[in-house]
Amino acid sequence: MAKIRMKTPLVEMDGDEMTRVIWQMIKDRLITPFVDLKTEYYDLGLAHRDETGDQVTVDSALATKKYGVAVKCATITPNAARMEEYHLHEMWKSPNATIRAMLDGTVFRAPIMVKGLVPYIPTWKKPITIARHAYGDIYKSVEMNVPQGSKAELVVTDPEGQESRSLIFDFAPSAGIIQGIHNTDKSITSFARACFNYGLSTHQDVWFATKDTISKTYDHHFKDIFADIYEKEYKEKFEAAGITYFYTLIDDAVARVVRSEGGYIWACKNYDGDVMSDMVATAYGSLAMMTSVLVSPDGVFEYEAAHGTVQRHYYKYLKGEPTSTNSVATIFAWSGALRKRGELDQLPKLMRFADQLEKATIETIEEGVMTGDLYASSQLEHKVKVGTEEFLKIVANRLAANVGIIGGE
Ligand code: NAP
Ligand code: MG
Repeated sequence: MAKIRMKTPLVEMDGDEMTRVIWQMIKDRLITPFVDLKTEYYDLGLAHRDETGDQVTVDSALATKKYGVAVKCATITPNAARMEEYHLHEMWKSPNATIRAMLDGTVFRAPIMVKGLVPYIPTWKKPITIARHAYGDIYKSVEMNVPQGSKAELVVTDPEGQESRSLIFDFAPSAGIIQGIHNTDKSITSFARACFNYGLSTHQDVWFATKDTISKTYDHHFKDIFADIYEKEYKEKFEAAGITYFYTLIDDAVARVVRSEGGYIWACKNYDGDVMSDMVATAYGSLAMMTSVLVSPDGVFEYEAAHGTVQRHYYKYLKGEPTSTNSVATIFAWSGALRKRGELDQLPKLMRFADQLEKATIETIEEGVMTGDLYASSQLEHKVKVGTEEFLKIVANRLAANVGIIGGE
């Protein structure tokens, strides 16, 4: 069988620890036997980031802007312990933060659902995709302790030097605290567009919620920008696609989400997204079954697993002990990127291969073959626990049997 051809290379961002080990296994067993893989390779492993003064991270983000699609392995975000472990020159920033800042993107996270893994909320039949606005609010806030007897005001100085003032609170009776937060129309607009585009591209409804009844200027502004962008740029496209945009109050949204079947994109303000993504991930059962894609407003996509480098398993692996690390989210990062590349380059065979790869992975688990994390929670009656590489071998065999249908060219 001839291998499936690609046109444009994928930007490949290699990473660290156990996920780096899995990365190579996925390529060797699941991708290169079937696809004539073209990538532009960037080694974001911590040692190489340190050698290049983190330039490699910047270069990989620039390449992503150029080519449009990247696939990223989990990477270490250095802390004090890592400084020693890797003898680092600097405590480099999180690569994800650097890449996100350069692409100005929104992160969409969605669970991979399989039979036997029942969400803690049993009515959730389809994935809920959380889109978190990753800019501003309390994550870029200024905070102060205020002594008793002080008065706190908001002061805005316009370009002509004119001041507008507004009293926050008169702290005469007691000392206290204040916080200044902000957001920008540019960032909120990008966020809205990213959510609507992702709704169209995945054919799902978009929900958005804020506390606009209480926050009549701040949160209401988010609501207005979303409504405005939707009316002007997306209403017709949504209607044609048969999907809807739905706005409600955050309290109401939370109640509806719990009662829902899933199957939509839930756009969240920064803090809501931070908290709700952990709640939703846990309720679906496993962080190792959560995919993540960064989408920029100009249509650039970076796919990855939501989990980290699985350090504890890596140390076992280094000692030669058997591991049973779940590779599913990393496999889906590859399939997501290959499918998007196929879509952009109009390569239906590559898109079908991505479908087959996901199907072979899910079928393997649904027939009872899984890694330890899933084995612990799967409700399937006949299940077996397999090691990291054994799982990939079994998926590869199934894929090889199915892929004959695609044929090369
Ligand atoms: P982690 O790698 O997500 O792993 C935490 C624990 O979750 C593991 O010890 C394991 O539990 C379980 N787990 C996560 N992924 C799994 C998988 N694929 N298969 C099986 N079990 C899995 O988080 P961490 O250990 O806190 O962080 C390790 C490194 O990852 C850190 O240096 C951090 O900076 C980095 N990180 C990177 C990203 C990213 O690149 N996007 C995201 C988060 C963290 P058991 O040990 O109980 O089996
Ligand atoms: Mg969180």
